[in-house]
Amino acid sequence: MTELASALTEEQSTLVLLGPFAEKESLPGHGAMGEIPVGVLRSGGEYRLIACESLRAGAPLFWVDGETTDVPSRYSVQVDEGVHLDLPEGVGQEEIMDVYFWRFMNHSCSPNTRIVGRQVLAVTDIGAGEEITFHYATTEFALAEPFDCRCGSQNCAGRIAGFSAASDVERARLRPWLARHLLTSRL
Ligand SMILES: [Zn+2]
Repeated sequence: MTELASALTEEQSTLVLLGPFAEKESLPGHGAMGEIPVGVLRSGGEYRLIACESLRAGAPLFWVDGETTDVPSRYSVQVDEGVHLDLPEGVGQEEIMDVYFWRFMNHSCSPNTRIVGRQVLAVTDIGAGEEITFHYATTEFALAEPFDCRCGSQNCAGRIAGFSAASDVERARLRPWLARHLLTSRL
C-alpha cells in the first residue's frame, strides 16, 4: 500500500479508504480468488472508486455482481438487452462495500475501464490512487437518470443519456469500449 499512500494527497490520505477488497466466491467462473485492486475513497462527501495499485491496460479488475432486473435504476449496470444488474433492495452499507462497491464507479467521457460481460477491464494504464471510471453510454442503452457531465475531458459529451441518445460521432468514438449488446442494438 505504500505506492498508494504516496500517490494520495495529504488531504485524501486522511479520508476513509475501504479496500482493497477480497474477491468473493459467489460468482461462478471467476477463477482463483484474490485481492481486488480497488478501493472506495470518500472525498468531499462523494464516494469514488480508486485504484489501490498501478494497473496495466487490459488488466481484469473485478466483476459486477448484483440482482438482475429489467428496470434500470440510477446505479444499475446494463449487461444485456433488457437486463440490468442492480443492488438488492434494503442492502446494508457493509454489504455495499463488500460486494457492491462497483456502484461507486463514476462516469467519465475519457474512461479508464470498460465492462465486458460482467467484468471490468482496464483500457489504459491506471496509476495508484487514480479514479476508476467507465463511460455509462458504453453499457446503457438509455440512462434511468440522464445527467450533465462535467468530467472536464476534452471529449466530454456534455449531456449523458445513454447510447441511444449519443450522436453518430460519439457512438463511433465509443465503439472500442462498447458492450456487446450495444454493438448489436437496433437504434
Ligand atoms: Zn464528460
